[in-house]
Amino acid sequence: DKRNPGQPEFIQAVKEVAASVLDYIKDHPKYHEHQILERMAEPDRVVSFRVCWQDDQGNVRVNRGYRVQNNNAIGPYKGGIRFHPSVNQGILKFLAFEQTFKNALTGLPMGGGKGGSNFNPKGKSDAEIMRFCQAFMTELYRHVGEDTDVPAGDIGVGGREIGYMFGQFKRITNRYVGVLTGKGMEYGGSPIRTEATGYGAVYFLQDMLKHVGKSPEGHVAIVSGSGNVAQHAVEKLLQLGAKPVTLSDSDGFIYDKNGIDEEKLAFVKELKNKRRGRIEEYARKFGAEFHGDAARPWRVPGTLAVPCATQNEITADDAKMMLDNGIIAVSEGANMPTELEAVHRFQQARILFAPGKAANAGGVGVSGLEMSQNSARITWKEDELQRLLRDIMQGIHDRCVKYGGETGGKDKYVDYVKGANVAGFVKVADAMIAQGVV
Ligand code: NDP
Repeated sequence: DKRNPGQPEFIQAVKEVAASVLDYIKDHPKYHEHQILERMAEPDRVVSFRVCWQDDQGNVRVNRGYRVQNNNAIGPYKGGIRFHPSVNQGILKFLAFEQTFKNALTGLPMGGGKGGSNFNPKGKSDAEIMRFCQAFMTELYRHVGEDTDVPAGDIGVGGREIGYMFGQFKRITNRYVGVLTGKGMEYGGSPIRTEATGYGAVYFLQDMLKHVGKSPEGHVAIVSGSGNVAQHAVEKLLQLGAKPVTLSDSDGFIYDKNGIDEEKLAFVKELKNKRRGRIEEYARKFGAEFHGDAARPWRVPGTLAVPCATQNEITADDAKMMLDNGIIAVSEGANMPTELEAVHRFQQARILFAPGKAANAGGVGVSGLEMSQNSARITWKEDELQRLLRDIMQGIHDRCVKYGGETGGKDKYVDYVKGANVAGFVKVADAMIAQGVV
């Protein structure tokens, strides 16, 4: 705590990983001898810089930008850029640390990093967003590169922002390389990157169920959020024969007892992606229930849950309600949507619980494939990428079972939190040991 003052999220993340891996380290002393966990918990470097830009009224504005390069033992640093007023060094260190494990789990050669700024994009004009992105990249370009560090989008950074940053990198360096992922299809983006996180979270759910002899077919699924991840989670749930019945946004949630079908999902995509409307409209159009006041959907009876909105949206009380309603599996599409106490409740009840680190890694997995395509200057076919995404998720599941499975347990219980942490740790740790004390 003394070493990282004022960084509670970072300290919490390191403690949680430590709790999972310490037993493993005890049984494998080489990791202790090489001080691996201590080295992983100290980022390779943290760059902090001034971002100076002019708003539409001509006022000069100053923000702070960061890039945290946590670990590049298994590949170039990789992780998103977040633009949100809450961004600070501690939060980015926590995210870069977590990203190191998530990226290792994908099986692809990607290290961990994260960056961003305390810039608030809400209410800014398109021209202001462009000027901010250009100002941000005017410093960031010295620290990133296709073989060094490859940022992507995150909260507040979507296709538009990636485009502006890519344009500025190209202008400054006069090089056309895959320095960012999440690009538009016209300039080096990858097929199915948009679908990858939501599809991947449901593939992981499918794999957890298969491991205990079940399938998603016929199950009622509770989904939160209505953005990119939620939409594609619903799409894949439908394809696998499940019945998704809820969606939410920051106003509240809809409950459609008849199920959200393909036609209704098409309406949600149009509503959210084109018109930037509110989910309440769904309830009016299809005669579903709407629960306002920022209510979350966890009280709705269902046997599967895929939280896809935001962090800490499932509390311990929500978890109890879900368990009372007979929930059998939870797959985190969002980052850290389940509070720690709620995770413990799920684990005590021995239901299937997949942490975001494993379940939502499909997005960064396809970003890794975008890097490969850019390096080779080709675009693979969509069905090839669909197959690769499926393989990546299956591989993550298998690694979690290897390190989190109970051998000989009669219900084949797998601690997916432990499995994900230990699997990610071992891969990065072995690479660090091989590369010496650096
Ligand atoms: P979007 O911005 O597309 O969608 C987010 C959704 O969550 C919106 O419906 C939004 O509602 C809702 N939401 C946001 N904040 C809150 C809140 N405080 N309370 C209730 N609802 C809220 O984001 P994504 O779908 O891309 O991301 C969702 C989650 O998945 C995030 O945690 C993200 O970090 C994580 N993730 C995303 C990946 C990706 O590839 N996109 C990859 C890995 C993780 P509203 O419209 O009202 O804002």
